[in-house]
Amino acid sequence: MESYDVIIVGAGHAGAQTAIALRQHGFEGSVALVGDEPDLPYERPPLSKEYLSGDKEFARMALRPEAFWQEKAITLFLGKRVSQVSSGLQEITLSDDTVLRYGKLVWAAGGAPRMLDCPGSHSRNVFGVRRKSDSDAIRTALPDATNVVIIGGGFIGLEVAAVAAKAGKKVTIIEVQDRLLSRVSGQIIADYYHKLHVSHGVHIRLHTKAEKFVTNDEGKATSILLDDGSALPCDLVVFGIGIIPETGPLVADGAMGGNGVDVDGLCRTSLSDIYAIGDCANHANAYAHGAHIRLESVQNANDQAKTVAQDIIGKGKPYRVVPWFWSNQYDARLQTVGMTLGHDEEILRGDPESGSFSVIYLRDDKVVALDCVNKTKDYVQGRALVEAAVEDGQELDKAQLADTEIPLKEVGRA
Ligand code: NAP
Repeated sequence: MESYDVIIVGAGHAGAQTAIALRQHGFEGSVALVGDEPDLPYERPPLSKEYLSGDKEFARMALRPEAFWQEKAITLFLGKRVSQVSSGLQEITLSDDTVLRYGKLVWAAGGAPRMLDCPGSHSRNVFGVRRKSDSDAIRTALPDATNVVIIGGGFIGLEVAAVAAKAGKKVTIIEVQDRLLSRVSGQIIADYYHKLHVSHGVHIRLHTKAEKFVTNDEGKATSILLDDGSALPCDLVVFGIGIIPETGPLVADGAMGGNGVDVDGLCRTSLSDIYAIGDCANHANAYAHGAHIRLESVQNANDQAKTVAQDIIGKGKPYRVVPWFWSNQYDARLQTVGMTLGHDEEILRGDPESGSFSVIYLRDDKVVALDCVNKTKDYVQGRALVEAAVEDGQELDKAQLADTEIPLKEVGRA
């Protein structure tokens, strides 16, 4: 039986970065990376943006060149799923029945798209977006589609809608909530993106749910019956309604968890010698006022990977990093720093009509996050404000926060 000092399950951003960070920190033990896709580790964000639109080649999305993995002696098991974890034996079983023994196991398996559950939703022209193969399938179907329906008004849905609208398609977004981006942003940003998409010809149906897909003889959906009684024609449907964390084998082996796998500040699960990181790791986040959350972002994947790599080499320190995200739609580049979760006030800085502005989110009068649209300077300077609020309890003058004449780094205390 093959044995490795560290086995990493999941070859996305979190898993790949763990292997990279281990070698950067001089770890000399054996390392294996197991991933269920056939490709070498690649960047996921372009899948709903530049790769989908054809503006970025897959070759430019590799997290590291092919030679890197060999040079760094990182053994890759690609196209393999882990079907079983036996923490008592320190072993994992792969889909082809290979059994591998580990010293430390890093679970970085991410999540799978949450599926639609209405009749007909498994039709051949209905796709989620998580992997290269999903994006490839949409790219293949898009040129021949006239009516594109997007289900879910989160980042996945909006980014795909922007690509389809730019390709000249008739696009409709269906969102069950009463506004877009309800899980991740405030009302001002939701309104801005609503108007932006409408200005590009996208139809948006809020408070609406798909009840049934009407299919043809080829197994393709031709229309969607909505819960308001109307029907929407479709040639291509893309859904982005969240993810379900991939934790089955860990939970089956007794790992604590409910929403993902529970981890402590060093990303350790309740099973000995097993860490969990990235989208599936439920952790107490200092920048979410200590709430236990799963953070689905590249930043969190990379930084939790570094936390684990440092712990494995004996220099662990608890994960405590300010979150950040981005989204590109049309000419709008959104950069977010901090967590909007639980905010109780929004301050608008600048004019959304100008296409360049920021929203500052407060909780108990402290800055918890900023959403900056085409406003990189605010994003860069805002990071220090979020850190100062969390680390020192700093409260700032609200009128100055709203004043675009005053750089954020010069805003005075309240
Ligand atoms: P999301 O942010 O959770 O948004 C999904 C939205 O769809 C929610 O408002 C949800 O409402 C709604 N919804 C759920 N079921 C629905 C239904 N049957 N019909 C219509 N609407 C429905 O999820 P996502 O956009 O799929 O994102 C998935 C993952 O990709 C996340 O990890 C996200 O962070 C990541 N991602 C990030 C970026 C970025 O940061 N730029 C870009 C792309 C993807 P409920 O809350 O009621 O369920």
